[in-house]
Amino acid sequence: MIRSDFSRVDPKRRAALDHKKTQFAKPQFKEHDYIHSLNFYEIPPTAEITLEEFEVWAIDRLKVLSELEACSFRNRTPEETATHMSSILDKYLPLHSNSSRSSALQEERKKDHYSHFILRLAFSATEDLRRRFSRLETTLFKLRFQDGALIERQQFVDGLGLEWEKVDDDEKKELSQELMATSGKKGEDQEWFKVDWEQVPELVEGRRVLLKRGKAYVPVREQMSLVVAEFTRRLDNALVLTARNLPRIDEDDRLSPILAHLSQSFIAPDAAYSSADANIDGLSAPTAASIDTLSQHFPLCMQNLHSTLRANSHLKHYGRLQYTLFLKGIGLSLEECIVFWRKSFKLMTDDKFTKEYKYNIRHAYGDVGGDANRRGRGYTPYSCQKLLTEPLPGAGQSHGCPYRTFTSDNLLSLLQRTGVNDREVLKQVKEDVGKQRYHIACNRVFEWAHKKEIKKVKDDGTWGAAELDTILHPNTYFKRSWLLKHVGEGNAGIVGGTGTDGDRMSVE
Ligand code: SF4
Repeated sequence: MIRSDFSRVDPKRRAALDHKKTQFAKPQFKEHDYIHSLNFYEIPPTAEITLEEFEVWAIDRLKVLSELEACSFRNRTPEETATHMSSILDKYLPLHSNSSRSSALQEERKKDHYSHFILRLAFSATEDLRRRFSRLETTLFKLRFQDGALIERQQFVDGLGLEWEKVDDDEKKELSQELMATSGKKGEDQEWFKVDWEQVPELVEGRRVLLKRGKAYVPVREQMSLVVAEFTRRLDNALVLTARNLPRIDEDDRLSPILAHLSQSFIAPDAAYSSADANIDGLSAPTAASIDTLSQHFPLCMQNLHSTLRANSHLKHYGRLQYTLFLKGIGLSLEECIVFWRKSFKLMTDDKFTKEYKYNIRHAYGDVGGDANRRGRGYTPYSCQKLLTEPLPGAGQSHGCPYRTFTSDNLLSLLQRTGVNDREVLKQVKEDVGKQRYHIACNRVFEWAHKKEIKKVKDDGTWGAAELDTILHPNTYFKRSWLLKHVGEGNAGIVGGTGTDGDRMSVE
């Protein structure tokens, strides 16, 4: 299903593919006709898409799933989740109903269909990934099912051919009292379905069904639970089948790196940095002298580097690189960056600084060097994902994300030193970190530190959920913090952070 104009496969190798795997060499392309907005994802897509679409669509879906997961980590109610997700879905994975008469219906549904199957490939390798993917996809399906137009929803359900046993009139009469006790309505007055009770654990747990002879008697108004349970059951089975076929995919040089990156993105979704992020309206160009003041808006990873630098007048190589790229990302010019480091390394001679440090700063900015620097852009600022997945720092090093690299006690003291004094927040951070939800802990601290400003922009409608989505990049943290703290100074409307990872491979 991948168009070869973006192929990274050696053509000779492609021609020599095993005859048993000809489905990769000569796929039967076929466009789907998407009748419904909802999809049970039973039939894999087979039409052509470009490698770029393959990656971008998957990243967009991952963004949606990650936000859903963040909602559950933060114990948002179903209503709060639906409100929060509405603009995020509109932005990354819109799916209009037939009645909307949108001209993009087929394209939207195609993206939804393909992105689901691509992530299926990325997240079927282990039991843990499968369980997580299935849970989030089920939540997404449920959200859309609830949101859909009633008639279209019913048409979709009718088209599924689900084999639910209808309870006939005789049985309804026989169980009349018990059915009434379950639903509060006369049993005969509504439709009932009979299914194995394991299929509807949510309803059993909520005592919303009658349990009898190993069957759950479900009133028609609980149809959504039945459909959702069926969606999960089929997806779980399909994921196991996908896992069995994964070794074949491993041989495709075009897809394996993308799939590996996507599955890694489940730790913390990736976000790309674009040079436009350095232009923050209302913020005058940062200088070496303004970094101390601006550091109040830095995330913990950069605050930690900044305070270590101030305490020791030195930082080791990886810390310098991480911090230099971040400063470049907030708009500090190369000249000012050199001044910043020169002044910060105050115990060092000019000669030593020029010989041993200046070159690396210029290299990070793309002023010198080959390889990644060929286009003169240098390296891009590191995302949370990169900082959360790189090897842990050794003795004397301070790079990385403190939510991951610090012991729990040291992390809490560091947070308290930076002003986080709310016991409940610190307790929740400790829990997040214990479950390796490092970026969630960071977002929790951000929301606490900016709660007044967030409330204001939400109340006056200047910022929506898409502008307040989960932070996945230190430079987004800075930009959002700065803008929020300057709300009302004429720039509150200019928001947004780093986008999904579109140009990652071309730069680093
Ligand atoms: Fe920095 Fe990201 Fe860690 Fe926050 S989660 S401290 S922004 S690396």
